[in-house]
Amino acid sequence: MNRRQFLTFAVSLASGMLTGSHLASAQTLVRRRIECPILMYHYISTPPETADRYRLDLSLPPDRFEEHCAFLVDNGYTGISLWQLHQALTEGTPLPDKPVILTFDDGYIDAFENAFPILQAHDLVATFFIVTQFMDNPGYMTWGQASRLIEAGMEVENHSRSHPNLAERERDFLMREIDGAANAIEATFGYRPRFFCYPAGRFDENTIEIVRETGHLMATTTWDGMLHYSSDLFRLRRLRIRNSTGINGLQWLMSPRASE
Ligand SMILES: [Zn+2]
Repeated sequence: MNRRQFLTFAVSLASGMLTGSHLASAQTLVRRRIECPILMYHYISTPPETADRYRLDLSLPPDRFEEHCAFLVDNGYTGISLWQLHQALTEGTPLPDKPVILTFDDGYIDAFENAFPILQAHDLVATFFIVTQFMDNPGYMTWGQASRLIEAGMEVENHSRSHPNLAERERDFLMREIDGAANAIEATFGYRPRFFCYPAGRFDENTIEIVRETGHLMATTTWDGMLHYSSDLFRLRRLRIRNSTGINGLQWLMSPRASE
């Protein structure tokens, strides 16, 4: 290659790269909006007689959960993973008609013992947000059980190290809770968690910053709604399932609302 040919080559290479980077920046300008209910479950069990009103409100009996799953499948909903929602929001990857995401917070033992077999019977995937310091403790699933969820195609993701309020906290504290839990998950399962769930729904801009910085791609809140935006991946809205949420309630929660 002579000097002139080399220069032409170099210029075309540079312009090619330029076009590439223009394309990349155009890509990030694409704003996507997707409607997808993300259901928020906690306990899947009959609450004990001694349950306070919080525990009662967070508990859905297994037979009612079974009705939820049957309703979703019978009405043409397809359970998808948070990863699929992420790919749809960021890459435009198509989703099935009527997608729905089921999430279980806190890593309670009954999510494994009761919800998991019902999910499998209905061919539904789900995302389990675990609190790493609670694992192996009474009332919570074990690391071994969580790994069985993963083997079955479920997502096991980050819900912090000890479930504190993460709003108005110092960086070191946030790193310990968010990165510390991510490291524990990575050390046990061999993958870095991709999704975070704010404990008790509490967060601020610093929390988001650390969640993003530690490798997470999206985060779920307790804000109500089911519209998701590619420009707002760290404030995903969910639909809260209560003890009183029967099929009618579920149907009402999942119906499109004018307020969004
Ligand atoms: Zn929680």
